[in-house]
Amino acid sequence: MTKKENYLFDNIFAPYRDSEKIFLINDKYEISYLKFNKIVNKIANALVSKGLKAGDRVAVQAEKSVIQIALYVATIKAGGIYLPLNTGYTTNELDYFINDSSSSIVIVDSKIENNLKELLANQNIIFLTLNGDESGSLNESLVQQDENFDPVDRKEDDLAAILYTSGTTGKSKGAMLSHKNLVSNTTVLKETWRYSSDDTLLHMLPIYHTHGLFVAFNLLAYVNGSIIFLPKFSTQDAIKWMKKSTSMMGVPTFYTRLLSDEKFNHDLVKHMRLFISGSAPLLAETHVEFENRTGKKILERYGMTETNMNTSNPYDGERKPGTVGLPLSGVEVRIADKVGKELANGEIGIIELRGENIFNGYWQMPDKTKESFRDDGFFITGDMAYIDDNNYVVIVGRDKDLIITGGLNVYPKEVEELIDEIDGVVESAVIAVPHKDFGEAVVSVVVRSNENLSEDDIKNNLIEKIAKFKQPKEVFFENELPRNSMGKVQKVELREKFKNIFLN
Ligand code: AMP
Repeated sequence: MTKKENYLFDNIFAPYRDSEKIFLINDKYEISYLKFNKIVNKIANALVSKGLKAGDRVAVQAEKSVIQIALYVATIKAGGIYLPLNTGYTTNELDYFINDSSSSIVIVDSKIENNLKELLANQNIIFLTLNGDESGSLNESLVQQDENFDPVDRKEDDLAAILYTSGTTGKSKGAMLSHKNLVSNTTVLKETWRYSSDDTLLHMLPIYHTHGLFVAFNLLAYVNGSIIFLPKFSTQDAIKWMKKSTSMMGVPTFYTRLLSDEKFNHDLVKHMRLFISGSAPLLAETHVEFENRTGKKILERYGMTETNMNTSNPYDGERKPGTVGLPLSGVEVRIADKVGKELANGEIGIIELRGENIFNGYWQMPDKTKESFRDDGFFITGDMAYIDDNNYVVIVGRDKDLIITGGLNVYPKEVEELIDEIDGVVESAVIAVPHKDFGEAVVSVVVRSNENLSEDDIKNNLIEKIAKFKQPKEVFFENELPRNSMGKVQKVELREKFKNIFLN
Protein backbone atom coordinates (compact mmCIF):
# COMPACT_ATOMS: atom_id res chain seq x y z
CA MET A 1 0.00 0.00 0.00
CA THR A 2 1.37 3.43 -0.89
CA LYS A 3 1.95 5.88 1.93
CA LYS A 4 -0.80 8.39 2.63
CA GLU A 5 0.37 11.92 1.90
CA ASN A 6 -0.70 15.40 0.93
CA TYR A 7 2.43 16.49 -0.88
CA LEU A 8 2.13 20.27 -0.61
CA PHE A 9 0.72 20.30 2.92
CA ASP A 10 3.21 17.74 4.25
CA ASN A 11 6.22 19.52 2.79
CA ILE A 12 5.36 23.18 3.33
CA PHE A 13 2.75 23.57 6.06
CA ALA A 14 2.93 20.48 8.27
CA PRO A 15 6.42 20.87 9.79
CA TYR A 16 5.47 23.86 11.98
CA ARG A 17 1.74 23.35 12.37
CA ASP A 18 2.07 23.11 16.17
CA SER A 19 4.56 25.94 16.51
CA GLU A 20 3.64 28.64 19.06
CA LYS A 21 5.60 31.19 17.05
CA ILE A 22 3.78 34.20 15.58
CA PHE A 23 3.02 33.53 11.92
CA LEU A 24 0.74 36.40 10.82
CA ILE A 25 0.77 39.80 12.45
CA ASN A 26 -0.62 43.31 11.91
CA ASP A 27 -2.32 46.09 13.93
CA LYS A 28 -5.34 43.92 14.61
CA TYR A 29 -3.99 40.45 15.40
CA GLU A 30 -1.08 38.13 16.15
CA ILE A 31 -1.74 34.60 14.98
CA SER A 32 0.56 31.73 15.82
CA TYR A 33 1.23 28.77 13.53
CA LEU A 34 -0.79 26.63 15.92
CA LYS A 35 -3.79 28.93 15.82
CA PHE A 36 -3.51 29.29 12.04
CA ASN A 37 -3.57 25.52 11.64
CA LYS A 38 -6.74 25.32 13.74
CA ILE A 39 -8.43 27.87 11.49
CA VAL A 40 -7.25 25.88 8.46
CA ASN A 41 -8.70 22.68 9.93
CA LYS A 42 -12.05 24.27 10.68
CA ILE A 43 -12.27 25.60 7.13
CA ALA A 44 -11.22 22.22 5.69
CA ASN A 45 -14.01 20.57 7.71
CA ALA A 46 -16.47 23.21 6.50
CA LEU A 47 -15.47 22.63 2.86
CA VAL A 48 -15.84 18.86 3.19
CA SER A 49 -19.22 19.28 4.92
CA LYS A 50 -20.31 21.31 1.87
CA GLY A 51 -19.43 18.35 -0.33
CA LEU A 52 -15.85 19.10 -1.46
CA LYS A 53 -14.15 16.06 -2.96
CA ALA A 54 -10.54 15.58 -4.00
CA GLY A 55 -9.87 17.44 -7.26
CA ASP A 56 -12.84 19.83 -6.94
CA ARG A 57 -12.19 23.48 -7.69
CA VAL A 58 -12.75 26.14 -5.02
CA ALA A 59 -13.01 29.59 -6.63
CA VAL A 60 -12.39 32.60 -4.40
CA GLN A 61 -12.67 36.33 -4.94
CA ALA A 62 -12.25 38.15 -1.65
CA GLU A 63 -10.31 40.95 0.00
CA LYS A 64 -7.04 39.87 1.59
CA SER A 65 -7.59 38.43 5.09
CA VAL A 66 -6.37 35.67 7.39
CA ILE A 67 -9.45 33.60 6.64
CA GLN A 68 -8.75 33.89 2.94
CA ILE A 69 -5.14 32.75 3.17
CA ALA A 70 -6.23 29.95 5.54
CA LEU A 71 -8.84 29.01 2.95
CA TYR A 72 -6.02 28.41 0.47
CA VAL A 73 -4.23 26.02 2.82
CA ALA A 74 -7.54 24.40 3.82
CA THR A 75 -8.48 23.75 0.19
CA ILE A 76 -5.12 22.03 -0.37
CA LYS A 77 -5.42 20.03 2.85
CA ALA A 78 -8.95 18.92 1.91
CA GLY A 79 -7.68 17.74 -1.50
CA GLY A 80 -9.25 20.55 -3.53
CA ILE A 81 -7.80 22.79 -6.23
CA TYR A 82 -7.52 26.43 -5.20
CA LEU A 83 -8.62 29.04 -7.70
CA PRO A 84 -7.96 32.61 -6.52
CA LEU A 85 -9.43 35.44 -8.56
CA ASN A 86 -8.25 39.04 -8.90
CA THR A 87 -10.44 41.34 -6.79
CA GLY A 88 -10.70 43.65 -9.79
CA TYR A 89 -12.72 41.17 -11.88
CA THR A 90 -16.35 42.06 -12.61
CA THR A 91 -19.18 39.56 -12.04
CA ASN A 92 -19.29 38.86 -15.78
CA GLU A 93 -15.63 37.94 -15.75
CA LEU A 94 -16.18 35.76 -12.65
CA ASP A 95 -18.98 34.03 -14.52
CA TYR A 96 -16.46 33.03 -17.21
CA PHE A 97 -13.82 31.74 -14.75
CA ILE A 98 -16.30 29.79 -12.65
CA ASN A 99 -17.92 28.22 -15.70
CA ASP A 100 -14.62 27.48 -17.41
CA SER A 101 -13.21 25.78 -14.31
CA SER A 102 -16.58 24.21 -13.33
CA SER A 103 -15.86 25.15 -9.74
CA SER A 104 -18.05 23.41 -7.19
CA ILE A 105 -17.59 25.86 -4.32
CA VAL A 106 -17.52 29.61 -4.91
CA ILE A 107 -16.60 32.11 -2.19
CA VAL A 108 -17.17 35.82 -2.83
CA ASP A 109 -17.93 39.09 -1.08
CA SER A 110 -21.59 39.25 0.01
CA LYS A 111 -22.05 42.40 -2.10
CA ILE A 112 -21.91 40.38 -5.31
CA GLU A 113 -23.31 37.05 -4.14
CA ASN A 114 -26.85 37.51 -5.47
CA ASN A 115 -25.75 38.93 -8.77
CA LEU A 116 -23.38 36.01 -9.33
CA LYS A 117 -25.95 33.43 -8.23
CA GLU A 118 -28.31 34.78 -10.89
CA LEU A 119 -25.65 34.51 -13.59
CA LEU A 120 -24.80 30.95 -12.55
CA ALA A 121 -28.35 29.87 -11.74
CA ASN A 122 -28.22 26.64 -13.77
CA GLN A 123 -25.08 25.30 -12.15
CA ASN A 124 -24.78 23.07 -9.17
CA ILE A 125 -22.57 25.38 -7.10
CA ILE A 126 -22.30 25.93 -3.36
CA PHE A 127 -21.93 29.66 -2.60
CA LEU A 128 -20.30 31.05 0.54
CA THR A 129 -19.44 34.64 1.40
CA LEU A 130 -16.28 36.18 2.77
CA ASN A 131 -15.99 39.93 3.26
CA GLY A 132 -12.92 42.08 3.86
CA ASP A 133 -13.66 42.20 7.62
CA GLU A 134 -13.91 38.36 7.59
CA SER A 135 -17.66 38.40 8.17
CA GLY A 136 -19.87 36.24 5.94
CA SER A 137 -21.27 32.74 5.76
CA LEU A 138 -17.87 31.02 5.56
CA ASN A 139 -16.81 32.38 8.93
CA GLU A 140 -20.25 31.72 10.44
CA SER A 141 -20.05 28.10 9.35
CA LEU A 142 -16.77 27.62 11.25
CA VAL A 143 -18.29 27.88 14.73
CA GLN A 144 -19.49 24.29 14.77
CA GLN A 145 -16.43 22.81 13.02
CA ASP A 146 -13.81 20.57 14.61
CA GLU A 147 -10.26 21.95 15.07
CA ASN A 148 -8.72 18.72 13.79
CA PHE A 149 -8.56 17.53 10.21
CA ASP A 150 -6.74 14.64 8.61
CA PRO A 151 -5.12 15.77 5.31
CA VAL A 152 -6.66 14.22 2.20
CA ASP A 153 -4.33 12.09 0.11
CA ARG A 154 -2.77 14.08 -2.78
CA LYS A 155 0.35 13.12 -4.68
CA GLU A 156 3.02 15.36 -6.16
CA ASP A 157 1.52 15.43 -9.65
CA ASP A 158 -2.02 16.22 -8.48
CA LEU A 159 -3.19 19.76 -9.08
CA ALA A 160 -2.99 22.22 -6.21
CA ALA A 161 -4.12 25.41 -7.93
CA ILE A 162 -5.41 26.94 -11.12
CA LEU A 163 -4.41 30.54 -11.68
CA TYR A 164 -5.89 32.39 -14.62
CA THR A 165 -3.33 34.38 -16.60
CA SER A 166 -3.88 38.08 -17.11
CA GLY A 167 -4.88 37.32 -20.72
CA THR A 168 -3.50 40.28 -22.63
CA THR A 169 -4.68 38.67 -25.86
CA GLY A 170 -7.69 36.45 -26.28
CA LYS A 171 -9.32 34.50 -23.50
CA SER A 172 -7.68 34.20 -20.12
CA LYS A 173 -6.17 30.72 -19.65
CA GLY A 174 -6.16 28.65 -16.45
CA ALA A 175 -2.58 27.63 -15.59
CA MET A 176 -2.63 24.25 -13.83
CA LEU A 177 -0.07 24.08 -11.01
CA SER A 178 0.72 20.78 -9.32
CA HIS A 179 1.73 20.13 -5.72
CA LYS A 180 5.24 19.44 -6.99
CA ASN A 181 5.46 22.69 -9.00
CA LEU A 182 4.83 24.70 -5.84
CA VAL A 183 6.95 22.66 -3.44
CA SER A 184 10.00 22.55 -5.71
CA ASN A 185 10.00 26.31 -6.20
CA THR A 186 9.62 27.06 -2.49
CA THR A 187 12.52 24.84 -1.52
CA VAL A 188 14.77 26.39 -4.16
CA LEU A 189 13.86 29.95 -3.14
CA LYS A 190 14.67 29.23 0.50
CA GLU A 191 18.23 28.33 -0.45
CA THR A 192 18.63 31.07 -3.06
CA TRP A 193 17.42 33.90 -0.85
CA ARG A 194 18.57 32.38 2.49
CA TYR A 195 15.21 32.50 4.24
CA SER A 196 15.07 31.14 7.79
CA SER A 197 12.96 31.29 10.93
CA ASP A 198 14.73 34.57 11.77
CA ASP A 199 12.87 36.28 8.94
CA THR A 200 9.88 38.59 9.18
CA LEU A 201 8.49 39.42 5.76
CA LEU A 202 6.66 42.67 5.04
CA HIS A 203 3.72 41.35 2.96
CA MET A 204 1.69 43.98 1.12
CA LEU A 205 1.05 42.06 -2.11
CA PRO A 206 -2.32 40.70 -3.19
CA ILE A 207 -2.87 37.00 -2.48
CA TYR A 208 -4.64 36.11 -5.73
CA HIS A 209 -1.34 36.16 -7.65
CA THR A 210 1.74 33.90 -7.66
CA HIS A 211 3.93 36.57 -6.07
CA GLY A 212 1.98 37.17 -2.85
CA LEU A 213 0.45 33.71 -2.59
CA PHE A 214 3.16 31.22 -3.45
CA VAL A 215 6.47 33.07 -3.47
CA ALA A 216 5.86 35.07 -0.30
CA PHE A 217 3.40 33.05 1.75
CA ASN A 218 4.57 29.49 1.01
CA LEU A 219 8.19 30.44 1.56
CA LEU A 220 7.72 32.03 4.98
CA ALA A 221 5.49 29.15 6.13
CA TYR A 222 8.12 26.68 4.98
CA VAL A 223 10.88 28.28 7.07
CA ASN A 224 8.75 28.98 10.17
CA GLY A 225 9.16 32.73 9.62
CA SER A 226 6.75 35.55 10.47
CA ILE A 227 4.68 37.63 8.07
CA ILE A 228 3.55 41.21 8.61
CA PHE A 229 0.31 40.72 6.76
CA LEU A 230 -1.06 44.05 5.51
CA PRO A 231 -4.23 44.35 3.38
CA LYS A 232 -2.45 46.31 0.65
CA PHE A 233 0.51 48.54 -0.12
CA SER A 234 0.66 51.99 1.40
CA THR A 235 3.86 54.00 1.73
CA GLN A 236 3.05 55.04 5.29
CA ASP A 237 2.26 51.49 6.46
CA ALA A 238 5.38 50.19 4.76
CA ILE A 239 7.50 52.78 6.55
CA LYS A 240 5.79 52.03 9.86
CA TRP A 241 6.24 48.24 9.67
CA MET A 242 9.66 48.29 8.01
CA LYS A 243 11.26 48.61 11.46
CA LYS A 244 9.89 45.22 12.47
CA SER A 245 10.75 43.42 9.20
CA THR A 246 13.84 41.71 7.91
CA SER A 247 12.81 41.53 4.26
CA MET A 248 10.27 42.79 1.79
CA MET A 249 8.90 41.49 -1.52
CA GLY A 250 7.39 44.02 -3.88
CA VAL A 251 6.50 45.01 -7.40
CA PRO A 252 8.51 47.93 -8.85
CA THR A 253 5.80 50.50 -8.03
CA PHE A 254 6.27 49.75 -4.31
CA TYR A 255 9.88 50.81 -4.64
CA THR A 256 9.26 53.95 -6.68
CA ARG A 257 6.59 55.02 -4.19
CA LEU A 258 8.85 54.40 -1.21
CA LEU A 259 11.58 56.45 -2.87
CA SER A 260 9.20 59.35 -3.28
CA ASP A 261 8.99 59.68 0.53
CA GLU A 262 11.92 61.26 2.36
CA LYS A 263 11.24 59.18 5.47
CA PHE A 264 12.35 56.18 3.47
CA ASN A 265 16.07 56.47 4.12
CA HIS A 266 19.25 54.71 5.14
CA ASP A 267 18.45 54.64 8.86
CA LEU A 268 14.97 53.23 8.41
CA VAL A 269 16.22 50.16 6.52
CA LYS A 270 19.70 49.58 7.88
CA HIS A 271 18.58 46.38 9.67
CA MET A 272 16.82 44.99 6.55
CA ARG A 273 18.33 41.82 5.11
CA LEU A 274 16.71 41.72 1.69
CA PHE A 275 14.52 43.68 -0.75
CA ILE A 276 13.14 41.61 -3.63
CA SER A 277 11.42 42.93 -6.75
CA GLY A 278 9.54 41.16 -9.52
CA SER A 279 6.37 40.76 -11.60
CA ALA A 280 7.31 43.72 -13.82
CA PRO A 281 10.59 45.29 -14.92
CA LEU A 282 12.41 47.35 -12.32
CA LEU A 283 13.99 50.34 -14.02
CA ALA A 284 17.77 50.31 -13.70
CA GLU A 285 17.39 53.92 -12.58
CA THR A 286 15.19 52.87 -9.62
CA HIS A 287 17.75 50.23 -8.68
CA VAL A 288 20.51 52.84 -8.62
CA GLU A 289 18.44 55.46 -6.79
CA PHE A 290 17.50 52.85 -4.17
CA GLU A 291 21.12 51.97 -3.59
CA ASN A 292 22.14 55.63 -3.34
CA ARG A 293 19.40 56.29 -0.79
CA THR A 294 19.66 53.18 1.35
CA GLY A 295 23.00 51.54 0.67
CA LYS A 296 21.13 48.33 -0.25
CA LYS A 297 20.77 46.67 -3.62
CA ILE A 298 17.34 45.42 -4.64
CA LEU A 299 17.40 41.78 -5.74
CA GLU A 300 15.38 41.41 -8.94
CA ARG A 301 13.94 38.08 -10.02
CA TYR A 302 11.74 36.82 -12.86
CA GLY A 303 8.70 34.58 -12.75
CA MET A 304 5.33 33.92 -14.30
CA THR A 305 1.97 32.51 -13.27
CA GLU A 306 2.71 29.43 -15.41
CA THR A 307 6.21 28.82 -14.14
CA ASN A 308 6.63 30.16 -10.61
CA MET A 309 10.11 31.73 -10.23
CA ASN A 310 12.76 31.06 -12.88
CA THR A 311 15.74 33.35 -12.46
CA SER A 312 17.10 35.56 -9.74
CA ASN A 313 19.97 37.91 -9.16
CA PRO A 314 22.32 36.27 -6.68
CA TYR A 315 22.20 36.71 -2.94
CA ASP A 316 25.97 37.02 -2.60
CA GLY A 317 27.20 37.81 -6.10
CA GLU A 318 26.61 40.87 -8.22
CA ARG A 319 23.01 42.17 -8.45
CA LYS A 320 22.95 43.74 -11.89
CA PRO A 321 20.44 46.53 -12.53
CA GLY A 322 18.27 45.90 -15.60
CA THR A 323 18.77 42.12 -15.44
CA VAL A 324 16.71 39.34 -13.88
CA GLY A 325 19.79 37.38 -12.90
CA LEU A 326 20.76 33.75 -13.30
CA PRO A 327 18.67 30.56 -13.67
CA LEU A 328 17.50 29.14 -10.32
CA SER A 329 18.82 25.74 -9.35
CA GLY A 330 16.88 23.05 -11.25
CA VAL A 331 15.50 25.50 -13.84
CA GLU A 332 16.80 25.24 -17.39
CA VAL A 333 16.71 28.52 -19.30
CA ARG A 334 17.42 28.91 -23.01
CA ILE A 335 16.94 31.71 -25.50
CA ALA A 336 15.50 30.39 -28.73
CA ASP A 337 14.34 31.59 -32.11
CA LYS A 338 10.80 31.15 -33.42
CA VAL A 339 11.29 27.44 -34.15
CA GLY A 340 12.97 26.64 -30.85
CA LYS A 341 16.60 26.67 -31.99
CA GLU A 342 18.85 27.78 -29.18
CA LEU A 343 20.62 31.10 -29.80
CA ALA A 344 24.08 32.19 -28.75
CA ASN A 345 24.70 34.51 -25.80
CA GLY A 346 23.94 38.11 -26.73
CA GLU A 347 21.32 37.22 -29.34
CA ILE A 348 17.73 38.26 -28.67
CA GLY A 349 15.10 35.53 -28.75
CA ILE A 350 12.31 34.03 -26.67
CA ILE A 351 12.90 32.63 -23.18
CA GLU A 352 12.12 28.91 -22.99
CA LEU A 353 12.08 27.06 -19.67
CA ARG A 354 12.10 23.54 -18.31
CA GLY A 355 12.04 22.32 -14.72
CA GLU A 356 9.88 20.99 -11.90
CA ASN A 357 8.48 24.48 -11.37
CA ILE A 358 6.82 24.63 -14.81
CA PHE A 359 3.03 24.18 -14.88
CA ASN A 360 1.13 21.20 -16.28
CA GLY A 361 -0.63 23.06 -19.09
CA TYR A 362 -3.76 25.18 -19.54
CA TRP A 363 -7.01 23.95 -18.06
CA GLN A 364 -9.11 22.31 -20.76
CA MET A 365 -7.10 23.90 -23.57
CA PRO A 366 -5.07 21.02 -25.02
CA ASP A 367 -4.30 22.92 -28.24
CA LYS A 368 -3.03 26.02 -26.42
CA THR A 369 -1.00 23.76 -24.14
CA LYS A 370 0.51 21.91 -27.07
CA GLU A 371 1.55 25.07 -28.86
CA SER A 372 3.11 26.46 -25.68
CA PHE A 373 5.59 23.59 -25.26
CA ARG A 374 8.43 22.31 -27.46
CA ASP A 375 8.71 18.57 -28.09
CA ASP A 376 11.57 18.35 -25.59
CA GLY A 377 9.40 19.80 -22.83
CA PHE A 378 10.55 23.42 -22.85
CA PHE A 379 7.80 25.99 -22.18
CA ILE A 380 7.72 28.95 -24.58
CA THR A 381 7.25 31.99 -22.35
CA GLY A 382 6.72 34.76 -24.90
CA ASP A 383 9.25 36.93 -23.05
CA MET A 384 12.04 38.26 -25.28
CA ALA A 385 15.50 38.39 -23.79
CA TYR A 386 19.19 37.78 -24.26
CA ILE A 387 21.82 36.25 -22.02
CA ASP A 388 24.80 38.51 -21.34
CA ASP A 389 28.49 37.57 -21.10
CA ASN A 390 28.13 36.64 -17.43
CA ASN A 391 25.04 34.50 -18.07
CA TYR A 392 22.59 37.03 -16.63
CA VAL A 393 19.20 37.14 -18.36
CA VAL A 394 18.15 40.53 -19.71
CA ILE A 395 14.48 40.85 -20.64
CA VAL A 396 13.75 43.23 -23.53
CA GLY A 397 9.95 42.87 -23.68
CA ARG A 398 7.11 40.52 -24.56
CA ASP A 399 7.11 39.01 -28.06
CA LYS A 400 3.66 40.54 -28.55
CA ASP A 401 5.15 43.96 -27.80
CA LEU A 402 7.87 43.56 -30.43
CA ILE A 403 7.43 46.17 -33.16
CA ILE A 404 8.06 45.26 -36.78
CA THR A 405 8.22 48.42 -38.82
CA GLY A 406 8.98 48.20 -42.53
CA GLY A 407 10.28 44.68 -41.87
CA LEU A 408 12.70 45.78 -39.16
CA ASN A 409 12.51 44.72 -35.51
CA VAL A 410 12.34 47.32 -32.76
CA TYR A 411 12.55 46.25 -29.11
CA PRO A 412 10.49 48.76 -27.15
CA LYS A 413 12.74 48.61 -24.10
CA GLU A 414 15.75 49.94 -25.98
CA VAL A 415 13.83 53.05 -27.03
CA GLU A 416 12.09 53.44 -23.64
CA GLU A 417 15.42 53.43 -21.81
CA LEU A 418 16.74 56.26 -23.98
CA ILE A 419 13.58 58.33 -23.58
CA ASP A 420 13.58 57.76 -19.81
CA GLU A 421 17.08 59.24 -19.61
CA ILE A 422 15.88 62.59 -20.99
CA ASP A 423 15.58 65.34 -18.38
CA GLY A 424 11.95 65.98 -17.51
CA VAL A 425 10.76 62.46 -18.44
CA VAL A 426 9.31 60.35 -15.63
CA GLU A 427 8.68 57.22 -17.67
CA SER A 428 7.63 56.07 -21.11
CA ALA A 429 6.02 53.23 -23.02
CA VAL A 430 6.87 52.49 -26.63
CA ILE A 431 4.22 50.67 -28.66
CA ALA A 432 3.38 49.53 -32.17
CA VAL A 433 0.56 51.29 -33.96
CA PRO A 434 -0.84 50.14 -37.35
CA HIS A 435 0.60 52.13 -40.27
CA LYS A 436 -0.34 52.05 -43.96
CA ASP A 437 3.22 52.02 -45.33
CA PHE A 438 5.27 50.40 -42.60
CA GLY A 439 2.78 47.85 -41.27
CA GLU A 440 3.52 49.09 -37.80
CA ALA A 441 4.95 52.38 -36.62
CA VAL A 442 6.84 53.21 -33.43
CA VAL A 443 4.90 55.49 -31.09
CA SER A 444 5.89 56.60 -27.65
CA VAL A 445 3.68 57.58 -24.73
CA VAL A 446 5.51 59.71 -22.18
CA VAL A 447 4.83 60.87 -18.63
CA ARG A 448 6.75 64.13 -18.04
CA SER A 449 7.61 66.09 -14.91
CA ASN A 450 8.44 69.20 -16.94
CA GLU A 451 5.43 70.64 -18.79
CA ASN A 452 7.74 72.51 -21.19
CA LEU A 453 9.24 69.34 -22.55
CA SER A 454 7.88 69.02 -26.09
CA GLU A 455 7.44 66.28 -28.64
CA ASP A 456 10.27 67.81 -30.70
CA ASP A 457 12.60 67.86 -27.68
CA ILE A 458 12.18 64.10 -27.36
CA LYS A 459 12.46 63.39 -31.07
CA ASN A 460 15.56 65.58 -31.41
CA ASN A 461 17.20 63.93 -28.44
CA LEU A 462 16.95 60.54 -30.12
CA ILE A 463 18.25 61.51 -33.57
CA GLU A 464 21.89 60.84 -32.81
CA LYS A 465 21.26 57.90 -30.52
CA ILE A 466 19.27 55.32 -32.49
CA ALA A 467 18.53 54.38 -36.06
CA LYS A 468 15.74 56.34 -37.72
CA PHE A 469 13.42 53.33 -37.93
CA LYS A 470 13.53 52.99 -34.14
CA GLN A 471 12.67 56.62 -33.46
CA PRO A 472 9.04 57.30 -32.52
CA LYS A 473 6.96 58.78 -35.33
CA GLU A 474 4.71 60.39 -32.74
CA VAL A 475 5.10 61.20 -29.05
CA PHE A 476 2.04 61.54 -26.83
CA PHE A 477 2.02 62.92 -23.30
CA GLU A 478 -0.17 61.33 -20.63
CA ASN A 479 -0.48 61.99 -16.88
CA GLU A 480 0.30 58.37 -16.08
CA LEU A 481 0.72 55.00 -17.79
CA PRO A 482 -2.10 52.47 -17.33
CA ARG A 483 -0.95 49.70 -14.96
CA ASN A 484 -2.55 46.57 -13.56
CA SER A 485 -2.47 45.63 -9.88
CA MET A 486 0.95 43.97 -10.25
CA GLY A 487 2.47 47.15 -11.65
CA LYS A 488 2.61 45.97 -15.28
CA VAL A 489 2.11 48.66 -17.91
CA GLN A 490 -0.98 47.75 -19.94
CA LYS A 491 0.33 48.23 -23.47
CA VAL A 492 -2.81 46.65 -24.91
CA GLU A 493 -4.77 49.60 -23.57
CA LEU A 494 -2.33 52.07 -25.11
CA ARG A 495 -2.33 50.27 -28.47
CA GLU A 496 -6.12 50.38 -28.47
CA LYS A 497 -6.17 54.09 -27.67
CA PHE A 498 -3.78 55.09 -30.47
CA LYS A 499 -4.65 52.46 -33.07
CA ASN A 500 -6.18 54.82 -35.63
CA ILE A 501 -3.72 57.70 -35.62
CA PHE A 502 -2.00 56.73 -38.88
CA LEU A 503 -5.00 55.17 -40.58
CA ASN A 504 -7.34 58.14 -40.98
P1 AMP B 1 2.32 37.06 -14.37
O1 AMP B 1 1.97 35.76 -14.97
O2 AMP B 1 1.13 37.95 -14.16
O3 AMP B 1 3.12 36.91 -13.13
O4 AMP B 1 3.22 37.83 -15.43
C1 AMP B 1 4.41 37.24 -15.86
C2 AMP B 1 5.16 38.20 -16.76
O5 AMP B 1 5.61 39.32 -16.01
C3 AMP B 1 6.40 37.58 -17.33
O6 AMP B 1 6.11 36.75 -18.44
C4 AMP B 1 7.20 38.82 -17.68
O7 AMP B 1 6.76 39.36 -18.91
C5 AMP B 1 6.83 39.78 -16.57
N1 AMP B 1 7.84 39.82 -15.51
C6 AMP B 1 7.87 39.18 -14.33
N2 AMP B 1 8.98 39.50 -13.61
C7 AMP B 1 9.67 40.38 -14.37
C8 AMP B 1 10.89 41.09 -14.21
N3 AMP B 1 11.61 41.00 -13.10
N4 AMP B 1 11.29 41.89 -15.22
C9 AMP B 1 10.57 42.02 -16.35
N5 AMP B 1 9.39 41.38 -16.56
C10 AMP B 1 8.95 40.58 -15.59
